[in-house]
Amino acid sequence: MSTPRPAAPAREPTNPKVGFVSLGCPKALVDSERILTQLRVEGYDLVQSYNDADVVVVNTCGFIDSAVAESLDAIGEAMAENGKVIVTGCLGKREDVIRQAHPGVLSISGPQDYGSVMNAVHAAVPPAHDPFIHLVPDTGIKLTPKHYAYLKISEGCNHRCSFCIIPSMRGDLASRPVDEVLREAEKLAMGGVKELLVISQDTSAYGVDVKYAAREWRGKPYQTRMKALCEGLSELGLWTRLHYVYPYPHVDEIIPLMADGKLLPYLDIPFQHASPRILKLMKRPGAVDRTLGRISRWREIAPELTIRSTFIVGFPGETEAEFEELLDFLDVAQLDRVGAFAYSPVEGARANELPDPVDEDVKQERLARFMERQAAISTARLEAKVGSVQRCLVDAIDGELAIARSMADAPEIDGVVQVQDGRDAGLQPGQFVDVEILGSDEHDLYGEVAV
Ligand code: SF4
Repeated sequence: MSTPRPAAPAREPTNPKVGFVSLGCPKALVDSERILTQLRVEGYDLVQSYNDADVVVVNTCGFIDSAVAESLDAIGEAMAENGKVIVTGCLGKREDVIRQAHPGVLSISGPQDYGSVMNAVHAAVPPAHDPFIHLVPDTGIKLTPKHYAYLKISEGCNHRCSFCIIPSMRGDLASRPVDEVLREAEKLAMGGVKELLVISQDTSAYGVDVKYAAREWRGKPYQTRMKALCEGLSELGLWTRLHYVYPYPHVDEIIPLMADGKLLPYLDIPFQHASPRILKLMKRPGAVDRTLGRISRWREIAPELTIRSTFIVGFPGETEAEFEELLDFLDVAQLDRVGAFAYSPVEGARANELPDPVDEDVKQERLARFMERQAAISTARLEAKVGSVQRCLVDAIDGELAIARSMADAPEIDGVVQVQDGRDAGLQPGQFVDVEILGSDEHDLYGEVAV
């Protein structure tokens, strides 16, 4: 879960002022950006302190219990410091939980319910709109640095993974029309964005709900479908990175685009487990041999491919042998980046009803073994890059260093490339640079500007 992000600074002291706390995943971040954009369109100033705000909006996360606690704490802090609080986001679906902890909040709405948030803001502090003064950049208000942006292509999910309550919070898949997404990407490119991070709950299912309807963009037809979307985005000449890809066979179709340099050779695929029985209990695809075969074919076509994944250990009923199947999978799959969680029951998830829960100490012991096994793999895969030259995008200058990312590194979740002579070389955030890799560890690479 991300930490609260302060909104943009205030512009005019006479306008009504809104404080904003944004919690949760990149999908929630995009919801925050839409609300912030609408607030600016209507002439509200966005302020960074509770004292300066006339009202505070808290965009919450409700994915796991720790996120619920973090959201309730954030609401409590805003209530104590300001007192006029509007709650939205995933936890908003559980109004009773919020009301019980904080009965005085002004309004509660669920995710993507921008209309309810704006109505609540209007009721708390009416807008003072002047369209000639309150101009908003074409790209809207962004919470990410200027050079990368999240591009949300759909809401909701048609899967029913037994550990997940997102479909009950966000509903079934609803894809945005491809031309609308491509136009948004075009605007972002014109606004200086260099890297697009495509997000959804299930990127590979994009367009299934609208039967892959074709739309026109720049005078050419494009289907509302992952591959066509990637082809359209490649026209913009940006880095495009795919997140939350479900391991369907048709992911094969986009690997040639990576080999041709049209799409970053990077896939974020949450495999979650490798034991067919556990995957079945999770209600996820269970053909592990086919998955391994597919990964190896992908690497033949696009040898640079970086695969990031997440796993759950200690799922109800997981035996020691099934856990070891997972470790064996790691050895064979040789994934580049891996995150893992010990299973924790989420209120409302069907997995809670499964028999044979794994003891907490066994879960933690398995998690530690899992991370140790993967650490050796990640370290070796990074070490193999020492001596190579990597195209990088600079995120920040920190003292002497430029903090950059290669094609293998998504912001916030993966490692970085520390460019040791970055300041002397005059690098700036948002700039591409070729870096000669001189060293590595488990997460990061170190190097100098290539000559
Ligand atoms: S694919 Fe599974 S885990 Fe992901 S949002 Fe859909 S139901 Fe949840």
